[in-house]
Amino acid sequence: MTDIQTSKHSETQTLENYWMPFTANRQFKASPRMLAEAEGMYYKDTSGRPVLDGTAGLWCCNAGHGRKEISEAVSHQIHQMDYAPSFQMGHPLAFELAERLASISPEGLNKVFFTNSGSESVDSALKIAINYHRANGESTRTRFIGRELGYHGVGFGGISVGGIGGNRKTFSQQLLPGVDHLPHTLDMQDNAFSRGMPKTGAEKAEVLEQLVALHGAENIAAVIVEPMSGSAGVILPPEGYLQRLREITKKHGILLIFDEVITGFGRVGDAFASQRWGVTPDMITAAKALNNGAIPMGAVLIDDNIYDACMQGPAGIELFHGYTYSGHPVAAAAAIASLNIYENEKLFERTKELEGYFEDAIHSLKGLPNIIDIRNIGLVGGIQFSPSAQGVGKRGFAIFEECFAKGTLVRATADIIAISPPLIVDKQEIDQIVNTLSDAIRAVD
Ligand code: PMP
Repeated sequence: MTDIQTSKHSETQTLENYWMPFTANRQFKASPRMLAEAEGMYYKDTSGRPVLDGTAGLWCCNAGHGRKEISEAVSHQIHQMDYAPSFQMGHPLAFELAERLASISPEGLNKVFFTNSGSESVDSALKIAINYHRANGESTRTRFIGRELGYHGVGFGGISVGGIGGNRKTFSQQLLPGVDHLPHTLDMQDNAFSRGMPKTGAEKAEVLEQLVALHGAENIAAVIVEPMSGSAGVILPPEGYLQRLREITKKHGILLIFDEVITGFGRVGDAFASQRWGVTPDMITAAKALNNGAIPMGAVLIDDNIYDACMQGPAGIELFHGYTYSGHPVAAAAAIASLNIYENEKLFERTKELEGYFEDAIHSLKGLPNIIDIRNIGLVGGIQFSPSAQGVGKRGFAIFEECFAKGTLVRATADIIAISPPLIVDKQEIDQIVNTLSDAIRAVD
């Protein structure tokens, strides 16, 4: 039995019943890594040992942990009203949150559809894209274009437009039909160790013109990309690349969706990466830091023109879509409290202020054993290692484990270590993350 009030955990837990997500379950049982408490920049494991959070949980907790403003808002709301049906009914906080999101989103993206996760946001955006074209009388526009190495969650829509082979291969016969992928933009030949956006590679966007020529614009609904790929290991867009995607999609009446589940809410220094890079898509998918990871919640930010077309299209075509927990009152309360913190503490600006320091710190690792690339923007960094003789991903995982043992949480994706601390991180904590990483890299070597 676990006493939830005091977080006292039984020594006799067998770990037999929980099928963990994204985890090698058997291996985990042999050496469990349990987190039980969190405050500010730190987790504590079940023995009370502090672990510095170098990943904002999973790119979620941008305001740091244990924020009273959020827990009080949640507690207040759950007392006031725990749940309201999402069917033909609303409650004030969801409307207030939609208004707040519209006020920080890129120009024109003023409509908000609420979901419970990034995966649901992606599937919702794909459905909205098809609905929009049907409402406009273009019902042949059903194809989607994603990108190699893209991650868009685990729904069937998301894995279809996603470009990570391992997530797709078991389901190869069940994926959405009519999906193509642009080439990824990782180029370690020409752009290794580039700071910020790589200078070359924008021409990779031209493949979109070839796909349009091949399939016909009249058959393509939308292009979906992460402005910066996070899960595949921090892959930045080359200068001019996103602009080119925007030009080509606009020219052909194809919608452009930016999946900002990771880049949203200040990670790269503006509310959204679209703003940092001056490219406005037609829809943005979001989740994670939307409410600091406190309660599952996601959102799709939608251009007014799409909404208007969907509302004005022929009768019978209006999208019938939603989730039991869309715009959940408690999740919305957590989100409003989180947005207040981001704003009051100017955390997005802080990201920009710290970017140079963070960049120098992680690039100082260059020259350590097996590092073949370092990439960064805002408060996110990726350090890529050559795979070890034991196989792809073994070195990355060993470094992750070594860092955890040394009291710092980083994230391993294959042989790439990603760092994305809460935006409240200070210079000393950045040094601590990088120093631990440096020790771990040497130890694993
Ligand atoms: N899109 C992107 C860009 C993501 O990074 C993620 C999660 N890492 C998702 C979608 C899926 O989000 P969730 O796990 O909340 O379904």
